Amino acid sequence: MTKKTFQAPRGTRDLLPDDQVYFDYLNSTFKNVVKAAGFRQITTPAFEDTNLFVRGVGKETDVVDKEMYSFVDKSNNSLTLRPEGTAPIVRSYLENGMQAWPQPVKLYYTMSMYRYDRPQAGRYREFWQYGLEMIGDKDPFADVMVISTAYRFYQKLGLADHITLQLNSIGCQKCRPKYIKELTSFYKENEKKICNNCKSRVESNPLRLLDCKEAKCQALIEEAPQVINFLCTECHDHFKKVLELLDEINVTYEINPRLVRGLDYYTRTVFEFWTDRDGSQNALCGGGRYDNLVENFGGKSTPALGFAGGTDRTIEFIKSHPEIEILESRKVDIFVVQLGNEARKNCLKLLSSFWDEEVAAEGGLDKEGISGQLSHANRLQAKYALIIGQKEAYDQTVIIKEMASGNQETYPLDKIVKEIKKRLK
Ligand code: AMP
Repeated sequence: MTKKTFQAPRGTRDLLPDDQVYFDYLNSTFKNVVKAAGFRQITTPAFEDTNLFVRGVGKETDVVDKEMYSFVDKSNNSLTLRPEGTAPIVRSYLENGMQAWPQPVKLYYTMSMYRYDRPQAGRYREFWQYGLEMIGDKDPFADVMVISTAYRFYQKLGLADHITLQLNSIGCQKCRPKYIKELTSFYKENEKKICNNCKSRVESNPLRLLDCKEAKCQALIEEAPQVINFLCTECHDHFKKVLELLDEINVTYEINPRLVRGLDYYTRTVFEFWTDRDGSQNALCGGGRYDNLVENFGGKSTPALGFAGGTDRTIEFIKSHPEIEILESRKVDIFVVQLGNEARKNCLKLLSSFWDEEVAAEGGLDKEGISGQLSHANRLQAKYALIIGQKEAYDQTVIIKEMASGNQETYPLDKIVKEIKKRLK
């Protein structure tokens, strides 16, 4: 009887070494950009109290209503694998007394997220997000700082010409109820024209009506009242200032009156960066203000904002642009080839010296002949092979062979690490 083989669960996948090159590249580029703007890293637990997301993200949202990976542990606690980063970070802000830190507190993360979604290209059940949160600043300057940091990151990745910034303001607790009233009465008047999902959204989560992807609902979305026309004076002025500041630093945007975002905690500015690719999975990141969330979690009223981007989706987009060069793809710089017992000893010492200097080096410590070891060096795409035969071991020298050209020269063993480091620069 053949044994059952195992597969990664639906919606998850292994990140193989070649995928990891992209993940490392994206995450290190992100870290460099956000650290320069004063953000410091935070990592929260992979699971949290289920109520944190119910209260923070909102009971009627898709994420909480349909997509949470929740379980009851042996002590009867209801826990949920984090589907997003903002609610856990605000929890941490309060739990760790960050309200007493100099404000705003600026945090960034790169973490895995879990959503029981329908898997398709660019949509997984386990996926990664890069993101940041800026807690304790109400000024439009903060909005622009967060948006332009995201933009700078995409610029560094070489994506700036392929994306657009979509921007909207969805108002505050003062002005939004008036808009919601108008929107629901518009949809009630047109109930016959909308899909079944939207029929229930009219009561449960009316803002999401504007997000419906069903062809049937598209025409109505075009005609629906727009939140931007219902902003109170404070929200209107805030939004206007955000636009002016973006103009000043030459970040272009499209005002998108239908952009509402899926999570309940958003207020005022909301934004997404979209790719120029057709299809529903074209948002690289999304974010906005959430001025009530800290208070909602029991803290004092504290304005805040942030964004989260899809690592998997951003990488897929980079891959669809082959002209964008990912630096590190070489797996090993140096391959040390040896022949004979003395050479083997030198080989091991030499490898250790390279590793001490963080030069990627491997060696043929098994007993293959020189040509077998050299073809192994070739398969690993090593830039140089360093050959130590019996003569070299005796002379304390090493042959440097440049793999691409085949050129060879002999070099003193005690100076080789320094020389190779120089050449690799
Ligand atoms: P959200 O937290 O829903 O605002 O999502 C922010 C970003 O995360 C999106 O713009 C996507 O790039 C990415 N994202 C969201 N859900 C998924 C998923 N199921 N699989 C892969 N990426 C996702």
